[in-house]
Amino acid sequence: MIIAIDGPAGSGKGTVAKILANKLGYLYIDTGSMYRSLTYLVLRDNIDTNSEIDIYNAFKNNDIEITPDSKNLLNGEDISSKIRTEEININVAKVAGYPTVRELMREKQRDFASKYNIVMEGRDITTEVFPDADYKFYLDASIDERVRRRVKQNEEKGLESNYEEIYESIKNRDTSDMTREYGALKRTTEQIYIDSSNMTIDEVVEYMMEVIK
Ligand code: C5P
Repeated sequence: MIIAIDGPAGSGKGTVAKILANKLGYLYIDTGSMYRSLTYLVLRDNIDTNSEIDIYNAFKNNDIEITPDSKNLLNGEDISSKIRTEEININVAKVAGYPTVRELMREKQRDFASKYNIVMEGRDITTEVFPDADYKFYLDASIDERVRRRVKQNEEKGLESNYEEIYESIKNRDTSDMTREYGALKRTTEQIYIDSSNMTIDEVVEYMMEVIK
């Protein structure tokens, strides 16, 4: 069983996918965190972000993994707390835009489905990774609402946050993710579209559960 969820940055798909996976007893996979781990490696090792071949080789020669409890490992080291920086936000869409890199990433992602029932979220899961998934959702929200949610999350973590800066950061990532040549985030008629701007997390999960039942 494969439940695929795509959507833009900050749409709540991570939170929703995690709850859904818990309820169903499926494995939750955040594919954005895999691209973030690769970007962490690229920046750490000063690999040129303009060089597709260097990034591809770095990916091939290092072990990027997600554990069943959603920890991100790089060669066995837990880097989960290091992959959500602004520097990674700025560079990740570029690293994720190379076709050879994406193909390798997709192979890894498809591997999960051969062993587990999964809820997988990202940008190209409903279109490229699992176009034949049992359920395909596109989770959206207005940019203002997505920024408000991010600001609130930061406040809850005790982090300072500037509305305008977060707005710019999310808008830039939306543009890169939606307009790049390979692996762009797309809406299709096969996805079940959910605009969560005026919905709570629980309402979104409840709606998805109804669809799945
Ligand atoms: O989901 P999250 O916002 O953490 O994803 C980080 C970045 O990883 C996205 O902005 C996108 O560039 C990339 N990504 C991707 N394909 C996916 C998931 C994420 O290109 N399936």
